[in-house]
Amino acid sequence: MKKVFIARKIDDKGIEMLKKHFEVVENSVDKVLSKEELIKQSRGCDAIVTLLSDEIDADVIEKIDDSVSIIANYAVGFDNIDICAAAKKNIIITNTPEVMTQAVAEHAMTLLLACARRVVEGDNYVRSGKYKIWEPDLLPGPEIAGKTLGIIGVGRIGAVLASIAYHGFGMKVLYHDIQHDEEVERNFQANFVSMNQLLEKSDFISLHVPLCPSTKHMISTGEFKMMKKSAILVNTSRGAVINEKAMIKALRDGEIFAAGLDVFESEGSIDPDLIALKNVVLTPHIASATHEARESMSVCVAENIIEVLSGRPAKTPVEK
Ligand code: NAD
Repeated sequence: MKKVFIARKIDDKGIEMLKKHFEVVENSVDKVLSKEELIKQSRGCDAIVTLLSDEIDADVIEKIDDSVSIIANYAVGFDNIDICAAAKKNIIITNTPEVMTQAVAEHAMTLLLACARRVVEGDNYVRSGKYKIWEPDLLPGPEIAGKTLGIIGVGRIGAVLASIAYHGFGMKVLYHDIQHDEEVERNFQANFVSMNQLLEKSDFISLHVPLCPSTKHMISTGEFKMMKKSAILVNTSRGAVINEKAMIKALRDGEIFAAGLDVFESEGSIDPDLIALKNVVLTPHIASATHEARESMSVCVAENIIEVLSGRPAKTPVEK
């Protein structure tokens, strides 16, 4: 019987599907495995389920058993995996696109609203006992309707955010991408603009690009200087798309109004200077954490493994 190793517990539905076809070996401890542990615990397996917290670099790829023919990543991003090294060893890499799109777009809008309406500051104000009576100038922020949202990377998630912003809030949508999307332009009256135009004209900016060499630190000192002082920046993509040191300075110096962040340059050890800021809303990489998305992600992972280990093409392979 073929064997599947699961590097960290995922939603039960996918695990049950896998158990109907294969022997399933789960990570024996409920924590992220070191590279050495992952290599050791996956010995003799035909497939591995990884999370974005598992760093599958060239060294890991080289050392995992030759029996492994698929690594199914429980995420849409796959910057944790060296896909070139995997391709050289004929290992198929899959991700979980589509099934988390709505959840992440909703979370991006949640962060945008939370920053604009200063929800976390307000919550802290009440909890700390400062709220005594209605104040006319307490925690004002911008209205959303009619304002301009600039979306950088209008793929699956960016397009759903465009829909929420346009239909739900009557926002004007600008976007920048390496390709035009006529559907987004038609459906949400979105305008394709240069990066500089987007930075200068947007009241809110949301990032939805994958992390790769061309997007690393694409938002840095120069970009913050181009934004409006009233701008709110939202990042649910990957932390390193923003130069975090430059962002901290921009937020501290009032170059932008606020930032809503679900991802960080160094996840697990977030810069204390960022945490000290009042004009940020921080969430622990939970943009896809809806009950619906987690279950569908596990089903997607299971379907990919069942297909590949049965000799059929993967459902959602990652292209090199
Ligand atoms: P997608 O591939 O559908 O969309 C990405 C878009 O970015 C595409 O339209 C692409 O053309 C564009 N793009 C790529 N390089 C660019 C560049 N240099 N400049 C401008 N545009 C560029 O991906 P998606 O499903 O929308 O997901 C986007 C990213 O969101 C993922 O790669 C992942 O890192 C992140 N994500 C985060 C979470 C979370 O929990 N926070 C969950 C899911 C996805």
